[in-house]
Amino acid sequence: MESIHVLSNLASTASPTLAAVADLPTFRYHLDPLGSGAIVASDARCARCEQSRGFVYSGPVFSAHPEPLDDRLCPWCIADGSAAAAFDAEFVPLDGEVADIPRDAQEELGKRTVSFTGWQEVEWLAHCDDAMAFVAYTTDGSPSGYVFRCLHCGTRRTYSDSA
Ligand SMILES: [Zn+2]
Ligand SMILES: [Zn+2]
Repeated sequence: MESIHVLSNLASTASPTLAAVADLPTFRYHLDPLGSGAIVASDARCARCEQSRGFVYSGPVFSAHPEPLDDRLCPWCIADGSAAAAFDAEFVPLDGEVADIPRDAQEELGKRTVSFTGWQEVEWLAHCDDAMAFVAYTTDGSPSGYVFRCLHCGTRRTYSDSA
């Protein structure tokens, strides 16, 4: 009965339950936001839905709205676009390579995708006339490399920056 014991222990702690993790939204352009740290466990209430759902987005938010939004938006309100609409916010700057991708891809990337934290402002890469998916930070010991994969042809590309 050890597995049942472990499960009940998990469910009784303040950390997110297995059910909540399984229920997290997925992001086409950000493959593993828990692994990258873009989504973190938190009891903070979301500025949009005003619920404490166990997770918040910890990456950059671009908004002129006076409401403090850092670490205050839940992943669900980002995935469905309601956070971006409520606060006229974007999470990925639509300049550089993604300035020229189709408008619907820009909408999804800018307003419904969790970004990541870099030394400098994020530069999202593009390939095959679409935004690439952010895979992970590089694992070669450098803290400042960003790995992307093309959702169409599978090409991997990396860029790096520094403080
Ligand atoms: Zn929310
Ligand atoms: Zn491609």
